[in-house]
Amino acid sequence: MVTIREAREALKLYFGYEQFRPMQEQIISDVLQRKDVVVLMPTGGGKSVCFQVPAVVMPGISIVVSPLIALMKDQVEALIVNGIPAAYINSSQNAEQQYEIENECLAGRLKLLYVSPEKLLSSGFISFLKRLNVSLFAIDEAHCISAWGHDFRPEYTQLKALKQQFPSVPVIALTATADKLTQKDIQEQLYLKNPSVFTASFDRPNINLMVKPGKDRFNKITEFLERRHKQPGIIYCLSRKATESLANKLKSSGYSATYYHAGMSANQRAKSQDDFLKDNVQIVCATIAFGMGIDKSNVRWVIHYNLPKNIEGYYQEIGRAGRDGAKSDALLFYSFADVMNMRNMLQENQSREEQTELQLVKLERMQQFAEAAACRRRILLQYFGETMRKDCGNCDICRNPPTRFDGTLLAQKALSAIARTNERVNLSLLVDVLRGARTSQVMQAGYDRVKTYGAGRDVSTLDWNRYLHQLLNEGFVEMAYDQGYTLKLTEHSRQVLFEGRKVQLVKFEETKQEEPTVKAR
Ligand code: ADP
Ligand code: ZN
Repeated sequence: MVTIREAREALKLYFGYEQFRPMQEQIISDVLQRKDVVVLMPTGGGKSVCFQVPAVVMPGISIVVSPLIALMKDQVEALIVNGIPAAYINSSQNAEQQYEIENECLAGRLKLLYVSPEKLLSSGFISFLKRLNVSLFAIDEAHCISAWGHDFRPEYTQLKALKQQFPSVPVIALTATADKLTQKDIQEQLYLKNPSVFTASFDRPNINLMVKPGKDRFNKITEFLERRHKQPGIIYCLSRKATESLANKLKSSGYSATYYHAGMSANQRAKSQDDFLKDNVQIVCATIAFGMGIDKSNVRWVIHYNLPKNIEGYYQEIGRAGRDGAKSDALLFYSFADVMNMRNMLQENQSREEQTELQLVKLERMQQFAEAAACRRRILLQYFGETMRKDCGNCDICRNPPTRFDGTLLAQKALSAIARTNERVNLSLLVDVLRGARTSQVMQAGYDRVKTYGAGRDVSTLDWNRYLHQLLNEGFVEMAYDQGYTLKLTEHSRQVLFEGRKVQLVKFEETKQEEPTVKAR
């Protein structure tokens, strides 16, 4: 078996790094022992090394599945520059080129082969792979396998064929998305055998998180830029057209700006990207097509001109700032009109109903993040399943905290209602129960007989929604996306219910509502 010492030498020899980052060492050591491994690590954490180094030191060839053809090319070129024989096969090549690479593989001349999932699953490819000595399968961007994730790709679900066809070849699955459902999906759908799961902290403490109202955003942006002399940054916009018009507007105000979106030619895109990487231009106005795999460590700020679709996307995009660890800013513009726009887009685009519902719930969480009055980092990390012990001190809310009040009683009412309905209600049904509404759903389930029925009738539906979102944001409640968006109790909720833990809620202007609504459903 190959030892971790040999891996360390390869790291130095081929990549020029003195040592592994702590988690990399453990991961690689498991891979070398031919264990299945799942790696959840934020962008910039150093995931590539986790399969590239084993690929170099293990005998035979490693197959890397990657969804993005453009990225594949960059990675392979970087490997070749480092002296590692690697290639890629995908639909951008003609039959002859593909044939040539297959021959290289058969001759045992390559250490890494990058393939798209489509290619991997195309007819004859598995039997081709069986003629090779495959040492490892690496599934990059593994969250694409999960319909709960933000980047679902149906062809990824076919990757289960790998374990069936190659039961003894280890699999390493990597992603920068950490939510629990995605993680579960990755393990289950790839049929991983008792895998080691490595989760790096998703905290990026050097990024200052800010949210501003969307009114008058162009002036707010120029104001923001005034204080960031020439520092490079990205402005994410919703549409291709918007990237162009914003870049032009910035240019006519004297800034150095360009744009980037998937509708441009490959050459134009390469030029924009290159100009930004080489600091020839300060600002890129881009759609979310920009950024995957871009290795620029000194991006000092990221602005979201519009509300992103979900927290996963937002987190990934702000993560492009400050990869060098130096102070950076993330500024999000929020307006209700954006939410409505986004809702319409989601409803028009989606073909499958359950996907639409999921996307709408995720959008709602994003909206709640933008409207939230609690430490923004706490909310972000909570979303990914990490609980912070104290507020971060590096977000707009921490710097300018809102007033809070003792909301323990309210929280207890909500949590106990969740417990008494056996964690089977979603948010709107819970509010109905709390307010004592006589809807058919409540009556049929017999929730009018639970002890907390109507215990919160003095609080309006809208206010209950806001309080419950605060509880979600702060980890007192969890939402089960895979079980009808039902609300679940957490360790923290148990402390509130049984151990006298206090809950501080944020004050807002309460709305009035007379009697509980009677909804005909
Ligand atoms: P990810 O795929 O997780 O986004 P990358 O693999 O692209 O991250 O790595 C991010 C950066 O960290 C790259 O510039 C990479 O060269 C660097 N890096 C990775 N591992 C190490 C290491 N052990 N020592 C120093 N730098 C490293
Ligand atoms: Zn904070």
